[in-house]
Amino acid sequence: MATIGPASDSPAVLAAMQDAGMDVARLPLAHGSIDEAVARLRRVREAAPEVGVLVDLPGPKIRTTAFPEGGVNLVTGTEVDICPQGLAPHSSEERIGVSLPELVESLQEGDRVALGDGGVALMVEKRDGYTVRARVLAGGKVQGRPGVTAPATRLSLKTPTPEDIERLEVLLAEGIESVAVSFVRTASDLETVKSLVGREVLVCAKMETPEAVGEMDDILRVADTVMVARGDLGVRVPFEDVPHIQKKLIRSCIAWGRPVITATQMLESMVNSPVPTRAEVTDVANAVFDGTSAVMLSGESAIGVDPVNAVATMARIARRADLDFDSHQWSRNLPIQHFASEGAGSARITAAIGAAAWRAAIDEKAAVVIACTNSGATARAITRYRPPCPIVAATPFAFTARQLTTSWGVDTVLVPAEAKSTDEAVDNGIEAARLAGYAKPGDVAVVLAGSLHDPTSPVTDTLRLVRIY
Ligand code: PGA
Ligand code: MN
Repeated sequence: MATIGPASDSPAVLAAMQDAGMDVARLPLAHGSIDEAVARLRRVREAAPEVGVLVDLPGPKIRTTAFPEGGVNLVTGTEVDICPQGLAPHSSEERIGVSLPELVESLQEGDRVALGDGGVALMVEKRDGYTVRARVLAGGKVQGRPGVTAPATRLSLKTPTPEDIERLEVLLAEGIESVAVSFVRTASDLETVKSLVGREVLVCAKMETPEAVGEMDDILRVADTVMVARGDLGVRVPFEDVPHIQKKLIRSCIAWGRPVITATQMLESMVNSPVPTRAEVTDVANAVFDGTSAVMLSGESAIGVDPVNAVATMARIARRADLDFDSHQWSRNLPIQHFASEGAGSARITAAIGAAAWRAAIDEKAAVVIACTNSGATARAITRYRPPCPIVAATPFAFTARQLTTSWGVDTVLVPAEAKSTDEAVDNGIEAARLAGYAKPGDVAVVLAGSLHDPTSPVTDTLRLVRIY
């Protein structure tokens, strides 16, 4: 997954990123106007029609006013004023404007304020009217409009914000397939967005507040996909907790059958450099070993020197890590996880059929698992088992195909039309997979299909083993 920004906005770069391995483009709405966002979305659709798009609602992110072009260096030990944006429409080494005046008002002596993803820290020393004087505890370069993080007890705004909702409505009219919600704290924050987008659009919970981590299971029950948003998370919890939260979240997402994205600073040095650090390479590979469904580029592809190279580098690391993926160990742990956490009803049936399909794929040395699916749910039900052969989703909908690009290891083939019976769905799926080269005569295909009875409660209830003629 790659974040799209000024460095990756042109059709030529977008097409090259798709060729280099980008499966999903993230469109952050934090910067620029809604018209620019719509234009960007249309450019992605045009230049890279197969990639999924994740529209990212910024939520109540508080930012500084703009630092001068090229950024400034805040020096450790020096003093700086923090004030409402009205008093500092531009930020500098001496004065930092903040987009939410109430935040400055709520700051108290001794508060730590972080800029950006936490590298730069300030400590509030005293108040002078609307302005506070702060000391630079940890200096560094700041550029653009970095986020401002104050202690959690100072101010908390609800997500989604009214601006998020306004922008979301415009983009829904463009037919987007997925939307991410920043700074989720409770399941009801997500439910607000779900009620606006309807059941077809996937809603991604960005896990970046300590409150959300505390309510993990309630949030995962409601979320369609999840992002481990390590940037904002790492300035809100002690940074040494981040790897543990990452592993715990990924494990829970697998148990719940939710695609999970590991995000932020994965190849950070590539914002400026043509090669990643060895630590970054290891971080990406470790996220794959943890079982993440997707790995994400942020600044590397949005504002970096070479977005195509960043995508190619990440794809190369992920492919290599997948080769050594321990699917045997994985399969031994899984059945316990899924039955421990699934609820009753259709989710349990889907989980049981998924487990049976995975077992059958191993026993029969299947060439392929084919998921016949309208909504994508059947394909998502099998990917968590990581069967040792390709997973192919057979769907009549390009919309569903784009949604499945976030899932681990799912290739998609398009079938001519919505099937009228399970037999027809299975036949169409096999035919399309065979044509695309996933199965040849003599192979066994494991085929999964969803129930056609009740479209409001999708359930995967059919498993067939088919020998290809
Ligand atoms: P952001 O989210 O890039 O929109 O801030 C990801 C993160 O916080 O890690
Ligand atoms: Mn964030």
